[in-house]
Amino acid sequence: MNLNTETSRRTPSSLTHPRVALVTGGGAGIGAAISQQLAEAGHIVFIGDINAHTANDLAGSLCAAGHEAYAVQLDVSAPASIDAAFNTIENQFGRCDILVNNAGIAKTFPFLDYPVEHWRKVFDVNVTGPMLCGQHAARLMRKNGWGRIVNIASVSGLRASSGRTAYGTSKAAVVGLTRQMAIELAEYGITTNGVAPGPIDTPMTLDLHSQVARDNYTRAVPAKRYGVPAEIAAVVQFLCSEQASYVNGQTVPVDGGFMAAGVLEI
Ligand code: NAP
Repeated sequence: MNLNTETSRRTPSSLTHPRVALVTGGGAGIGAAISQQLAEAGHIVFIGDINAHTANDLAGSLCAAGHEAYAVQLDVSAPASIDAAFNTIENQFGRCDILVNNAGIAKTFPFLDYPVEHWRKVFDVNVTGPMLCGQHAARLMRKNGWGRIVNIASVSGLRASSGRTAYGTSKAAVVGLTRQMAIELAEYGITTNGVAPGPIDTPMTLDLHSQVARDNYTRAVPAKRYGVPAEIAAVVQFLCSEQASYVNGQTVPVDGGFMAAGVLEI
C-alpha cells in the first residue's frame, strides 16, 4: 500500500467546514450537552430524539444563539425511523460527517426476575440502534473519506453493578461494536470510538438512581460526586475533532476515577 497516496486522499483539511453531525437522544441530558458543544464548535447539528419537544426546544435555543441546528424525530429502536432521519439529513446536506450514538435506556431488575421483553427493548435501543445508525452514517462518510463516530457506552459495560443485566450487557456490546466498526471503517478515513460515562446528573439518573444508589456511587467514585453532561460532551467533542485522527477503537471512561478505584477507605 502506498502510504503517501492513502494519506493525501484523506487529508482532513481538504474537507469543507462546517461538518454535519447527528446526535441521537440529543434533546436531553448528555446528548443535549453534546449537541450544544458540537454546535458551539461550528458544526451543523441534527438533534435526533424520540422526544420531539425537547429536540425542538434545544434546536430553537441553539439557533437563537446563532448556531445551526435542526430537530429530527428519531426512534433508534425502529429501523424505519432511522431510514427517515438519514433521508432528511442526506436530502438537506448530502452528507453526515459526525455521528454520536447517544440514545440509550436503562431499567434495573434483579437478574433472577429480569423481564425478557425489557432485555429485548434495551438491546434494540442500546445496541441495534447504534449499529444501524452507524451503517447509515458510514455510507455517507465513506463518500468523503472522512468521518467520526462516537458511541456512548457506560462504566456499566466495563464493570458489573446490581440490576443491570440488560443495561450492563448492552453497554459491553457497545464497547465490542465500537471495536468492530473501528477496524472495518478505518480504511474510509472514519474513526469509531466510545465514551463510557460514570454516574452523571441527567433525567435518566434522576429517575433510575435511588438515594441509596446515589450515596453508594458517590462513595465509590474517587471524585466524590456525580459528573455533569458537559464533562462527557468535552471528551466526545475531542474524539470528533481533527486532533483525534489517530485514536480509533477505544472506549474512554469519563468517570471521576470510578474504573481506576478499588478500596477507597483504609
Ligand atoms: P436521558 O437523560 O434519559 O436522555 C436520553 C435522551 O434520549 C432523552 O431525550 C430520551 O427521550 C432519548 N431517547 C430515549 N430513547 C430513545 C430512542 N429509542 N431513540 C431516540 N432517542 C431516545 O439519558 P442520559 O443520562 O443523558 O444518557 C445518555 C447516554 O449516556 C445513554 O446511552 C446512557 O446509557 C449513557 N450513560 C448515562 C449515564 C448517566 O449516569 N446518566 C452513565 C453512563 C452512560 P425520552 O426522555 O423521551 O425517553
